[in-house]
Amino acid sequence: MDAIEVGILGATGVVGQQFVSRLARHPWFRVTWLAASERSQGKLYREVAPWRLAAPMPGTSAERTVEACVPGKGPKVVFSGLDASVAGDIEGAFAAAGHIVISNARNFRMDPLVPLLIPEINADHLKLLGEQRSSKGWTGAIVTNPNCSTIVLAMSLAPLRTFNIRAVVVSTMQAVSGAGYPGVPSLDILGNVVPFIGGEEEKMQSETLKILGTDGGRAPYQAVVSAHCNRVAVVDGHTMTVSVDFHSRPSIEDVAEAIRTFAGRPQELWLPSAPQPPIVLTTEPNRPQPRLDVDLGGGMAISVGRLRSCPVMHAKFVALGHNTIRGAAGAAILNAELMHAEALL
Ligand code: NAP
Repeated sequence: MDAIEVGILGATGVVGQQFVSRLARHPWFRVTWLAASERSQGKLYREVAPWRLAAPMPGTSAERTVEACVPGKGPKVVFSGLDASVAGDIEGAFAAAGHIVISNARNFRMDPLVPLLIPEINADHLKLLGEQRSSKGWTGAIVTNPNCSTIVLAMSLAPLRTFNIRAVVVSTMQAVSGAGYPGVPSLDILGNVVPFIGGEEEKMQSETLKILGTDGGRAPYQAVVSAHCNRVAVVDGHTMTVSVDFHSRPSIEDVAEAIRTFAGRPQELWLPSAPQPPIVLTTEPNRPQPRLDVDLGGGMAISVGRLRSCPVMHAKFVALGHNTIRGAAGAAILNAELMHAEALL
C-alpha cells in the first residue's frame, strides 16, 4: 500500500512534536508537510521546534521547512496540534478548503456536527460527516478527540453502559505535562497539589456525555457527571478515582467482567495504534500507578484497578491513562486509522 501523505498544523508545539515523532514510524501515514505560525514560517523545523521528547527528532522532519497554515496547501489529511486561540478559524478554513482535519484542540469538540471520537466507544459517530459537509458547506471535514482527562474517564465508563449508569463522581490527579510546556511553574507544583485546572471540570462533565451518547452524540448519554480536577507533581499520566451509580445492580464480578472483555472497532480491525486489550484491569491492591502503568499498550491502553463496592454509590475504582499519548496525539492518530479503515480519508 502507498503511504498516505499527511500534514501537521501546529507542528512545532508540544502536541505537534508528538505527531511528528509518532508518525515517523507509522505504517500507513507519511508526514510531508509541517505548518505553524508566522514566527516559524520559512525556517527549518529543527530551528523552530524546541524538541521536548526523549526520542530524537526524526531526520526527515528536522530538515523540512515549516510553512504557514494556508488552506489548500499541504496534503488532504492534516493533523492539528494548534493552539486553541487560533484552531477555530484555521481548522474551519482547512475543512472548507477540502482538507480532513484530525484535531486535538477543543474548539469544535462540542459542535453537534463534529464527531468527538474515541474509536473503541463511538465509531458510529463518524456518520455525522455527511451532514457536517452538507450543513457547513465544507468539502473537507473535522474530527476531534477528547480532552486528556475525559478520554480516561470515558474509556473506563464505556464498558459499564450495559448497567445503565445513573451518576458518576470523579476526582482527578493530573500530570503537569497536560498543561503543555513550560506549563505549571515548579514553585507552584513541587510538594503541592493545585485543586484547579481552568475549564477542565466542565469539559469532563460535558464531553463524556457526548462521547457515550447516541445519534452522533446529539443525544447525550442520560447520566450526571461531577468532576473534581487537581494538578499533581507527576510528569505523565492522569490518574482518577471514580465512583459510579447504576440503574441496575450488577455484582462487582459482573462489572469486572465487562471491563475485562471490553473491545471495539480498533481491536476488531487490528488498527496499528490499537491497544490489545484497550483496558487493562489490574488486580494488585496498589495499582494502577502512573510511574508503573502509564506506558501500557504503548501509552494507548487505559488501566483500571481497585475495583470494589462503594457504600455511597455502587462501584468505585481507579483509572489511569497517558495524557499526551492516549490523551492527545496517539488518540488523533487512532482516529485517522479508523477513518482510513472505514474508507473515510
Ligand atoms: P503549544 O506547545 O503552545 O503549540 C501551539 C502550536 O500552535 C505551535 O505549533 C504554534 O506555532 C502554533 N500556533 C500558535 N499560534 C499560531 C498562529 N497564529 N498560526 C498558526 N499556528 C500557530 O501547544 P500544545 O501544548 O501543543 O497544545 C496544542 C493543542 O492541543 C491545544 O489546543 C491544547 O489545548 C491541545 N492539547 C494539549 C495537550 C498537552 O498535553 N499539551 C493535550 C491535549 C490537547 P509556533 O511555534 O510557530 O508559535
